[in-house]
Amino acid sequence: MASGKNESFRERKQRLRQSFVAQFPERLAQARELLARLRSGSDQREALERLHLVLHTLKGSGASFGFDAINAPAKAAEHALRGVLDQDARVTDRLILALEQALGALEGLDLALELPAAPESWPRFEIPARHAVEGDTRERRQRLVYLCDDDPIIAQELSGQLSCFGYQIIPFVTLDSLRQAFRRERPSAIIMDVIFPEGQDAGPTAIAALNAGIDQPVPCIFMSSRDDFSARLRAVQSGGNAYCPKPVKAVELAEILDQLTNPGATEPFHILIVDDDPDVAQFFSMVLEEAGMVTRVANEPARVPGALDGFNADLVLMDLYMPNCSGPDLARVLRQMPGHLSLPIIYVSAETNLDRQFKALEVGADGFLTKPLEPARLVAEVHLRAERMRILRSLMIRDGLTGLFNHNTILQLLDVALASCRRNQTSLCMAMIDVDHFKSVNDTHGHPAGDQVLRALGRTLRLRLREVDLVGRYGGEEFAIILVGVDAVHAKEIMDELRADFAEVSFFADDVEFHCAFSGGIAAYPQFTSASALVDAADRALYQAKRAGRNRVEIATTTAELADAPPSEPMGGHAREGLNSKASSSGVEMRDEH
Ligand code: GH3
Ligand code: MG
Ligand code: MG
Repeated sequence: MASGKNESFRERKQRLRQSFVAQFPERLAQARELLARLRSGSDQREALERLHLVLHTLKGSGASFGFDAINAPAKAAEHALRGVLDQDARVTDRLILALEQALGALEGLDLALELPAAPESWPRFEIPARHAVEGDTRERRQRLVYLCDDDPIIAQELSGQLSCFGYQIIPFVTLDSLRQAFRRERPSAIIMDVIFPEGQDAGPTAIAALNAGIDQPVPCIFMSSRDDFSARLRAVQSGGNAYCPKPVKAVELAEILDQLTNPGATEPFHILIVDDDPDVAQFFSMVLEEAGMVTRVANEPARVPGALDGFNADLVLMDLYMPNCSGPDLARVLRQMPGHLSLPIIYVSAETNLDRQFKALEVGADGFLTKPLEPARLVAEVHLRAERMRILRSLMIRDGLTGLFNHNTILQLLDVALASCRRNQTSLCMAMIDVDHFKSVNDTHGHPAGDQVLRALGRTLRLRLREVDLVGRYGGEEFAIILVGVDAVHAKEIMDELRADFAEVSFFADDVEFHCAFSGGIAAYPQFTSASALVDAADRALYQAKRAGRNRVEIATTTAELADAPPSEPMGGHAREGLNSKASSSGVEMRDEH
């Protein structure tokens, strides 16, 4: 691993603080020079604006890096300047005096005192390369985000943190460089500062101009230490989707980015149409496909199970009267097949007798549409029901806090994935991870802070892994991941990279910053052949990782491997006993929390 990657969060932050301290005198000298220009009376408007920008940036970066002493004087000076600028008033002696006092106070600060002794040489800052999302360029483009802030320290710090969440963040410090990149490739979102050397609302102005020339505006998050109504209004008017007051927290930005760039939200509805009249079925199919849905048609009830196979239907539109097998009969047959118990079924029929409609619904169908159906109404009804069904189903299979698959679902998916790996003779890995010392996060920072950590970890896993990988919340602060087509060594590399990056994410509770790590255990198919063996072995390896000091990932060995491994050691009961005792204590330790 490169040295830059090994650099801990603390070290990196410390290095950024140091570079802020190094730049501090130069920024003050700039402010001095601008103050002299104000005194001399030349170019006053420009000097006022530039001085405001210098002090405003100092205030923002100072707060970001924990130099609290900067805040009061910088804020006082900024406030005084703001008043004069907003009213286009004259520079008064009172203003000069206020600025002189503030600047004097800043010059009197010795920031270096607040820096503990630094290592001899700092490694160069680099944003680590991320686990590649193989092949899927569409997905990758969805995660491309531009971040523009004229303060290079903030731009770099936020970019580094956000890339931990699986976004590809490109930082810019000038509006020009942002514009150029935007022309070359359009991102899925932009994170934008408000104040730039070009002006008090140069950020929103630039965004409005970029979006003016295109059909679909790029989602934008503004961030600023201006928190006044007019700044927020200007941001909304120029196309801002969100507004974050500085200092901005990466975890919050990531949550907003998720909402703005959410992949998979637009997956079209899949509708199976069952009707013995091919013309009617084709008509429905045509109308629904025209509206962007995906359809399959079955003209005979007997073909329905086959048609459902691999289709992932959101809804079945079913004729009520068919020869040999009525709609309710077919519904009953489907309900008795594993996997179709909760499949939403809507009858379509010319039956207007409410009694008979009611009888048909009794066998567990979800609705009734009466023919004749106008195309617009058909689309509206199907869309409405399919959407509602999707939400209901997702509530059943997903965990409410993280949106990941829940315990039961991930175990079912493991069975499915394992069967397909057996057929295709590919490998698979099961990884179990568990947040380290999570109880103390709750105890120290409160339950909501703990929830924030779990949501962030869930998001990191979902966004950083490939579409084919399956991620579930196994219980409490334990997550299960199924990596398809990957061997144990590769899986460990992937999980180790995620682990190292997650440990760098800053969390906040009441403005207190903290960090979390996780431990992981990996078990691979075909070394372990059944789903329960994989889960047990991954759990055991996780327990080993905990025992070995946490914040690490271990690979599970089979009993045979363990017996083979140390040639010098007799294959006696010793090693086996060790493994068994770990296995049983793992059972107790890991299970008590679910
Ligand atoms: P270790 O490093 O050994 O894993 O220690 P730990 O403190 O993480 O493990 P322990 O099992 O002792 O504590 C897990 C805690 O997780 C206890 C439980 O209250 C908390 N927890 C479980 N589910 C949730 C949740 O949904 N939200 C929050 N905030 N806490 C949860
Ligand atoms: Mg635990
Ligand atoms: Mg834990």
